[in-house]
Amino acid sequence: MKLDDESQLQPSKAHPATVPPAAVLSACDMLVIGGGPAGASAAIMLAEKGYRVVVVEKARHPRFHIGESLLPANMPLLERLGVAEKVRAIGMQKWGAEFVSHWDGRHQEFQFANAWDKSLPMAYQVRRSEFDEILIRRAADRGATVVEGCRVRNVEFLGPDRVRVTGVHDDGRTETWETPQLIDASGRDTFLGTQLQTKRRNKRHNSAALYGHFSGARRNCGRQEGNITIYWFDYGWFWFIPLADGTTSVGAVVWPHYLKRRAGPVREFFLATIALCPPLAERLRDAELVSEVEATGNYSYSCDRTYGSNFLLTGDAFAFIDPVFSSGVMLAMNSGMAAAETAHICRTDPKQRARALQRFDRLVRHGPKQFSWFIYRVTNPTMRELFLGPRNILRMEEALLSVLAGDVFKNTPIWTSLRLFKLLYYVISLANLKRTWRALKSRAANIRVEPKRLTSG
Ligand SMILES: Cc1cc2nc3c(=O)[nH]c(=O)nc-3n(C[C@H](O)[C@H](O)[C@H](O)COP(=O)(O)OP(=O)(O)OC[C@H]3O[C@@H](n4cnc5c(N)ncnc54)[C@H](O)[C@@H]3O)c2cc1C
Repeated sequence: MKLDDESQLQPSKAHPATVPPAAVLSACDMLVIGGGPAGASAAIMLAEKGYRVVVVEKARHPRFHIGESLLPANMPLLERLGVAEKVRAIGMQKWGAEFVSHWDGRHQEFQFANAWDKSLPMAYQVRRSEFDEILIRRAADRGATVVEGCRVRNVEFLGPDRVRVTGVHDDGRTETWETPQLIDASGRDTFLGTQLQTKRRNKRHNSAALYGHFSGARRNCGRQEGNITIYWFDYGWFWFIPLADGTTSVGAVVWPHYLKRRAGPVREFFLATIALCPPLAERLRDAELVSEVEATGNYSYSCDRTYGSNFLLTGDAFAFIDPVFSSGVMLAMNSGMAAAETAHICRTDPKQRARALQRFDRLVRHGPKQFSWFIYRVTNPTMRELFLGPRNILRMEEALLSVLAGDVFKNTPIWTSLRLFKLLYYVISLANLKRTWRALKSRAANIRVEPKRLTSG
């Protein structure tokens, strides 16, 4: 497909009928749909470069969002955006990640300090309502116009340098902007991917999640208190994320067919699911569930294209795979910042435009690709074995830890060791052919698409 082909960019047929006539028409240099981590990061950078940037966000911050565990690779991004101190004040320090197998009680802790690059030893666990608000307010402080409570309903591509974006405010008012350049940071709503029909389900992965917050969960001591713990169980895996205010976020990421078993209320189903994983249930024995339980189909997808002649896709608006490695916020911020840089080059240096767009495309695809190899295999017994008994032969453990830390964009020379780790995985899989075959068959059955998806409690 020719990526700059304007014929791909026709106004949506689906939306205009539902959009009331425009009351206000404003102009800006860049418009960002969505004020999550991707959109706010892009807006901060663009505003700092002096652009008139508008962020249109359908919700009002602070608003709830799932995705509370950050990676060490987030830290330089927070510094660059000027929010490191504020995030430190709300964050729970996260120095490591633990993996627990409930079948044989095996347990392995990884410390980020042992990754290849020792300069990024920690990250944070955050409440996303607080974290996202810090980022969006920073964008406003740097000069971006942040329009909250306004849902973008329609995007029309009027020409190579003219995009018309129509939003509807909470009170029913309609507002329209014209901009030469659009950044889609609408998250899993995938506004442009849906309008342009470029969004594709990932045939290699499929999962759903149930989650809630507990008070009184049993935590680790000292530095390990903020570790994320991943528990494997028969139907997927759990996260255990301790937050700074004393609550703990617990979520089950399960095969979609498992959710179909739910007969009663989602809260009871969640608690019954936790009971299937004794080591986690034990940590929650004296804990109280203090939030509503949410359920979401986080089926995995990506869009065919990351950019067009006057738009760029960032974060979840381009792709979402699975939360197991807590990579979503880092990838969103990284791509948002790259989108700002790319949009700037497109505006100021037309000769570099094509190269900048190709670089952006490579970068936005690179992150999900690195994580997906592990995500597709993380419930496989061979991968479990490697995670639970890591060895640093030929620096393989350090390279693996660098991936877990999100260090996949810098020049850290992890790639040869990572290839060796993958080779080792295939060798062990071949040596255990029967087990591998059974695991492949069961995975194929587990990721099958269910006709009806659960979306809320
Ligand atoms: C169950 C689950 C657990 C997860 N756990 C983690 C984790 O531990 N760590 C991690 O890093 N990631 C995690 N993630 C992924 C993480 O939540 C996302 O990758 C991240 O939020 C993506 O950021 P974003 O800015 O691209 O999108 P979002 O954060 O979703 O922001 C998009 C914004 O766009 C707004 N919007 C959408 N449509 C419109 C519209 N039409 N008009 C105006 N505004 C609009 C939305 O209101 C939202 O504020 C998890 C995801 C799931 C599903």
